[in-house]
Amino acid sequence: MRATSLLAPTLREIPSEAEVISHQLLLRAGMIRKTAAGVYSYLPLAWRVLIKISQIVREEMNMVGGQELMLPIIQPAEIWQSSGRWDVYGDEMFRLKDRHHRSFCLGPTHEEIITLQVKQEVKSYKQLPLLLYQIQNKYRDERRPRFGLMRGREFIMKDLYSFDKDTEGLALSYQRVYAAYSRVFKRCGLAYRVVEADAGAIGGSVNHEFMVLAQSGEAEIVFCSHCDYAANVERAESLSTSIPEEARGMGQVMELISTPGVRTVDEVALYLQISPSQIVKTLFYEADGEIIAVLLRGDHIINEVKLANILQCRDLRMAADDRVAQITGSPTGYVGPMHLREVRILADQEVARMGVAVIGANREGFHYRGVKPGIDFQWEAEHDLRLAQAGDACPRCQGQGNLESVRGIEVGHLFQLGTKYSSSLDATFTDENGQQRPFIMGCYGIGVSRTMAAAIEQNHDENGIIWPVSIAPYHVVVIPVSSKDSLQMDHATSLYQWLLEAGIEVVLDDRDERAGVKFMDADLIGYPIRITVGKKTLTNGTVDIRYRKTKDETALPVEDVVGVVRKFIRSS
Ligand code: ATP
Ligand code: MG
Repeated sequence: MRATSLLAPTLREIPSEAEVISHQLLLRAGMIRKTAAGVYSYLPLAWRVLIKISQIVREEMNMVGGQELMLPIIQPAEIWQSSGRWDVYGDEMFRLKDRHHRSFCLGPTHEEIITLQVKQEVKSYKQLPLLLYQIQNKYRDERRPRFGLMRGREFIMKDLYSFDKDTEGLALSYQRVYAAYSRVFKRCGLAYRVVEADAGAIGGSVNHEFMVLAQSGEAEIVFCSHCDYAANVERAESLSTSIPEEARGMGQVMELISTPGVRTVDEVALYLQISPSQIVKTLFYEADGEIIAVLLRGDHIINEVKLANILQCRDLRMAADDRVAQITGSPTGYVGPMHLREVRILADQEVARMGVAVIGANREGFHYRGVKPGIDFQWEAEHDLRLAQAGDACPRCQGQGNLESVRGIEVGHLFQLGTKYSSSLDATFTDENGQQRPFIMGCYGIGVSRTMAAAIEQNHDENGIIWPVSIAPYHVVVIPVSSKDSLQMDHATSLYQWLLEAGIEVVLDDRDERAGVKFMDADLIGYPIRITVGKKTLTNGTVDIRYRKTKDETALPVEDVVGVVRKFIRSS
């Protein structure tokens, strides 16, 4: 490809709308352009990367017996109504009506449609296991589309669905796809970690996420320094290690104390010269419209995912201040769990272990000190409700190690669904004994477009993208220092021809630009290898070969170039 023909409109300025580096660099390298919030055009360089990632995914899915197919993007409402998800999906689903006013949606995922397809076509256990997948655009009207391709409203996903006759079969399919995912991300040249995750709206029990490690990741991962426990912080369990404090609290008497203008946990702690861990904070939530009070130790942070799972609610949000004031008779900052009527109260397990505590008095400017949790105020149930933090004792090896934390980008998600969809959609097969049984299912997604963005988040420097070789749009760029010098151009062109004939993906930067501009674009686009043809080429037959990742640059006889490049690509 000649740069003069390549549609790669690079930009010098950092586009102001782009917050994260992958978004900035994809725009600046002329790879994507925005059409609407969360909807992008992929220009040729980006599309080459996406094809390469898709091809790696395809090969690995085929390797474990996956069969590729293509399901419709437009799906009738009825199939979502039969599984019960038409309502559950809420505003994230793009809905539309046809000319006859029938309701449809743009597929956010394909469990329903694939289950119905298999129900129709597969009758016997002899046809199982069956692994079907597609690579296709998905549509989700995300609340906050952002970070470019990381959270789009139209994005490319590989989704695979497994159908087995029993749970052992599912475990095996799951294991195979898990191994295939590991190979996919390794082949893409990415550093990743697999973590236990929350199942969200998809449902099911066992599930794992593949996380590409990057400081900018939206997800926080905790992992144990001692054992192999690793989890998304949304899911991470907290081991209760504190010792019940009953003995210490017994002597203390409850007293009302004046705390004027002192509202937050930190302010109260400072004012009373105590630690935040001696305070119980009371948070009010609205769960599908119902007000719930949640009690947490002052130094802990609520995990709203755990809370929503326990409450089994669809919509969870902090209650508005005026509703809290109505219930407690107090402005926020002074609310507490005593004498709360007609409100369900849930406590974190650590609150139950506190001997005495400071709480809000439900009266402006006052707190109670010396309050005994479980005696002076009660709760309906205690749960693990807090967010795991770095430094916590590991819940898996029971505290032999401590949790550490890193950030990651979720690029893949695997779920053991069991019979969730086959039961609700009545999808059964005949087993060995002639009995009808629901298919045992799993589903497995990879965000193909998000993986491209994640690759950049993980691999870049101040000058641009550093593509892992396996997914680079092109492997080599050949740059004649002066395009006006016809001899240099001739040498560059014949080197370009040799590389092309050797089957190497190469761009000849034949633009009439200063060398500095061409070098900058080469770094920005992130070709793994840059070859400079200059005066030296004419005088002593050498070119300069520079590696994007290591920045190593050496002179090389022209005739050695093809061999060196080939070896580099093969060994990467
Ligand atoms: P998230 O928690 O990030 O919203 P999810 O749990 O909703 O992701 P899944 O339904 O498991 O995602 O989708 C499978 C994969 O598709 C994800 O692992 C991710 O890589 C990708 N993906 C999901 N939502 C988006 C999006 N809005 N834009 C780009 N990729 C996405
Ligand atoms: Mg999502």
